[in-house]
Amino acid sequence: MVNGMVQGVGFRPFIYRLARQHRLNGWVRNTSAHVEIEVEGSEDDFSQFLDSIRHQAPPAAHIQDIATEKLAAQGFADFEIGDSLPEPGKYQPISPDIATCPECLEEVFQAGNRRYLYPFTNCTNCGPRFTIIEDMPYDRPLTTMRTFTMCPECQKEYDDPLNRRFHAQPNACPLCGPSLELVNGAGDSVLCPDIIQKTAGLLTEGYIVAVKGLGGFQLASDATNQEAVARLRERKRRLGKPFALMLGSLAEVKKHCLVSPEEAELLLSPQAPIVLLRWRRGGSDIVPQVAEGNRYLGVMLPYTPLHHVLLLKVARPLVMTSGNLSEEPICRDNDEALRRLAGIADYFLLHNRDIHARYDDSVCLVEKEAPRVIRRARGYAPSPVRLPFRMREVLACGAEEKSTFCLIRGEHAFLSQHIGDMDNEETLEHFENTVNLYRKLFRVQPEVIAHDLHPDYLSTRYALRYAAEQGLKTVPVQHHHAHIASCLAENAFEGTVIGVAFDGTGYGADGNLWGGEFLLCDSRESRRAAHLENIPMPGGAAAIRKPYRMALGYLDMLLGTGMSLEGLPVLSRLPAAEVRIIRKQMEKGFNSPLTSSAGRLFDAVSALAGVRGEINYQAQAAIELGMLAPDDVTRLKPYPFSLVQEEEVAIIKLKDLISAVVADVREGIPASIVSGRFHRTVARIIVETCHLISERDGLKSVALSGGVFQNRLLFNLVVSGLEEDGFQVLTHHLVPCNDGGIALGQAVIAHHALE
Ligand SMILES: [Zn+2]
Ligand SMILES: [Zn+2]
Repeated sequence: MVNGMVQGVGFRPFIYRLARQHRLNGWVRNTSAHVEIEVEGSEDDFSQFLDSIRHQAPPAAHIQDIATEKLAAQGFADFEIGDSLPEPGKYQPISPDIATCPECLEEVFQAGNRRYLYPFTNCTNCGPRFTIIEDMPYDRPLTTMRTFTMCPECQKEYDDPLNRRFHAQPNACPLCGPSLELVNGAGDSVLCPDIIQKTAGLLTEGYIVAVKGLGGFQLASDATNQEAVARLRERKRRLGKPFALMLGSLAEVKKHCLVSPEEAELLLSPQAPIVLLRWRRGGSDIVPQVAEGNRYLGVMLPYTPLHHVLLLKVARPLVMTSGNLSEEPICRDNDEALRRLAGIADYFLLHNRDIHARYDDSVCLVEKEAPRVIRRARGYAPSPVRLPFRMREVLACGAEEKSTFCLIRGEHAFLSQHIGDMDNEETLEHFENTVNLYRKLFRVQPEVIAHDLHPDYLSTRYALRYAAEQGLKTVPVQHHHAHIASCLAENAFEGTVIGVAFDGTGYGADGNLWGGEFLLCDSRESRRAAHLENIPMPGGAAAIRKPYRMALGYLDMLLGTGMSLEGLPVLSRLPAAEVRIIRKQMEKGFNSPLTSSAGRLFDAVSALAGVRGEINYQAQAAIELGMLAPDDVTRLKPYPFSLVQEEEVAIIKLKDLISAVVADVREGIPASIVSGRFHRTVARIIVETCHLISERDGLKSVALSGGVFQNRLLFNLVVSGLEEDGFQVLTHHLVPCNDGGIALGQAVIAHHALE
């Protein structure tokens, strides 16, 4: 019995070839839970056979364990591949979609090959998987490919155990498989001899084309055409937030970006995610509007034959952004795209292979030579995170931003793909459908439901409703404890740590908004050991959209009410009446919740330094502040701050820090230097607070989580600082450090809560 990711990845033909090679007779078959093999032959041949299974498995397979037992001899005359055996209630991991493999690519670009330029070419080593599966076991009738009947040649490949396409469920060719259609904005078919060539021409002319990909639609436009990029921004209502790009080849990427060996490996991996790369602005003809105020470009390589052919024909970098309006879920079906993207795309490149699961592009970055997933979807989900112990069946519903959920069964944590920001009905519906799909595919019957402490999150309401309907227990989990537990679970770490959770907002156990937290915790319990001091957020959510409000909160709270705003670039330009209202709001405590959020501190400093007073997308003020910092900040002096121990909790006092920032800005010190000094200060705050806690409680392990650690400069300073001081530092790699990782932590905590 072989357990792991062993279906839909060319595993049975691999076993077939090995069995023949080692002179073993018997059979292999898929069940709903694993792959079963029965063989007869000599002990020697058998042990070599086992060895080869472990060491020569196909690239997309992932073997978890192999169990063997001795059976009575059956006298098999041959080795056969048997029919799949569905077993009720059993489950096994499902392969994510995989980028086109080199063999398929060679065929696609080989003149005379029967799949020459065919955009849906795939084999058992590559192509769609998760996005076309409706149920398990993974067989064609249970996928969206069932409507296509294979032609004799494709069927022959499919039936031949020695062929690369043996039981490749999405196997297809131009004769029998899916096909493209180009449609204009009015919904009329555009007739032309070569649809991809025509699409490339339209993109070159500056049109915006919605392209149906693996897990949904993408919006494509010419990344070297300023007017086209501006139009896409306006129509998609996406101001400021960087667009992802698709470039034709690694060589092409290197013309525009600095690429380390680890980054190159990630770009070319079967997951083929978007990788955030340092942009060489000089020498790159990609227009600045693609990623205004950013040092990095989000770049991916083509990952389907359709993308490969399109990029070859268009021969220029393309913006390739999710096909949605603002923060709605990515469009999936043809008619849905024609409706929802009508005001955005000029043309639609459609095809007739249905997508079952919406699936965005994943986003990764490489820091300290190791990849970190920031948005986990295509290529990664639904691969489970392996847990260090077996757990109850749990559903954890996550938070609000960058929403995901997590279903746990046994030692597998199925963290869903990125769903989106759960603040609208469309996203909630996508969330519910995806929960149902995962429950069906992995046969999970949750016995407990975990949710965030925030009573108003749609995910919390969904959790409570679901639990009430099913008569299940619920476990509320504090946001930052969930962050740290997620980091511990991914690192299979079972002890107690100093958990540093720095993010924008999370509902605190005391009813305030937390976000600059030091927790003494394990995956069961958590105690707040230190935090940034509480500051009022005048106007609540308005203070998030308008960092100048937050800056006023810091000034009034720490340096005295009503101080002059002279010499502060963003603040001094505010209308006096607005400043008066904001100040009054704080004085009266009207709609001014208290927050210890690190994200808000970054926002406030960004506004004070004159970098950004209002934002168009999440964390924009903090991101632009970070992008200004010089490459080497270690020669800059940190700002002062103080740590005050109050009974159980230490408070990080920020008066000296804010006062020094104001003094620097008034003296005309450039924002880049203020930014550099500020980042050094936050890193010092984290390291020194960890020392304080460590001296008291004897802990030497620190776990870092929360969206603030997407800040590469801060992340590097903190990890280096802690490691130099002898701390063991646990960080995220497979699971996002932002709220996309919360559900995993919630699930583990809920499991323990039932013990
Ligand atoms: Zn292939
Ligand atoms: Zn065919």
